[in-house]
Amino acid sequence: MDKKFFLRRCWAEIDLDTVKNNYLIYKRCLPEGMKIAAVVKADAYGHGDCSVAQVLQREGADYFAVSNINEAIRLRKHGIKGDIIILGYTPSEYAEILYEFDITQTIVSEEHANSLFLDSKNKIKCQFAIDTGMNRIGLNGENPEECERIIREYKDKLGLNGLFTHLCVADGDKDEDKAFTKRQIQIFKDVAGAVSDLNLPYIHYMNSAGGLFYAHDMPFGNLARLGIVLYGLKPDIENTLPDGIKPAMTWKTAVAMVKKIYPGETVGYGRTFTAESEKCVATLPVGYADGYNRLLSNRGYVVINGKKAPVIGRVCMDQITVDVSGIDGVKQGDEVILMGDGTDNALTADGMAQLTGTIGYEIVCDISNRVERIYI
Ligand SMILES: *Cc1c(COP(=O)(O)O)cnc(C)c1O
Repeated sequence: MDKKFFLRRCWAEIDLDTVKNNYLIYKRCLPEGMKIAAVVKADAYGHGDCSVAQVLQREGADYFAVSNINEAIRLRKHGIKGDIIILGYTPSEYAEILYEFDITQTIVSEEHANSLFLDSKNKIKCQFAIDTGMNRIGLNGENPEECERIIREYKDKLGLNGLFTHLCVADGDKDEDKAFTKRQIQIFKDVAGAVSDLNLPYIHYMNSAGGLFYAHDMPFGNLARLGIVLYGLKPDIENTLPDGIKPAMTWKTAVAMVKKIYPGETVGYGRTFTAESEKCVATLPVGYADGYNRLLSNRGYVVINGKKAPVIGRVCMDQITVDVSGIDGVKQGDEVILMGDGTDNALTADGMAQLTGTIGYEIVCDISNRVERIYI
């Protein structure tokens, strides 16, 4: 094991070249001339927003998307120059800060638009969200005349520079999902079409899945908002990613101690694991406070010396126990892979998600800031 990691309890290695490659591969899948907004909200899905944005900026990326004003300001303070859009609601109390940091704000409703008006000289950059069936934020796209009226009304009051919608089943494979997605895109197209004379610079509807599965089917708009695939994970477990795209994060720890237990002995809180035969148990300094999901109790596995070691007993707040009976010579300090890129026998974030009934997005977002990020 690399000496510099020796004192670390558990850590996540982020391969920024992989992030860059994923970005470039995805870009090649899009129609010619389509821009990408790198979605770096939630600390770049746990990968480190400033590091990810900086590496992509060097690659020519000039559009970034976040979820709130703190994330946006942090990027600006770390030298991110391009457009930064906040994809959700920001209260009007922050209007002047949005202006000061040159941040683009999503408008969620007419009321919101009205509240963000500063004065006729200092206009906040913003874009209307159009709701095309997700029923989360935006003007109701089912009523295109109303959308048109509001967009025209605020075009000059605010620094309006675009419109977008969000697809909610673009990762779905069923006919019903495809029909719904096409309808969403059509509704959005109609709204955008009604105000095409305004020549708004950014018209966009694609998330990762939209770009993978609808960019060529229904080419339209000029920007794709690339999130999960940038990090090498799947929008839906059933999806196939383009060749070469792979997970950028490997989560590791090191063995804290190794011991033998004998038939009839139990392990951990609640005594949920009972040894039927003599076993060798390794304790690892990672737990649910690090984001190692408690549902992996007696269900997950880690990799030590290239071999799988099942989690036995309950995941604790700061420690877990794994069965290393089948692995020769495991000792204190040995490196352990908790989550990998799929080439090392370890679970990927998507694999962990399958075991815990969630999605890879949540697995990586849950890795807490107690887990040091190391960039390789
Ligand atoms: C999070 C988010 C995205 C990115 O979605 P992925 O599935 O991760 O690509 C795109 N658009 C909006 C509005 C979002 O909130």
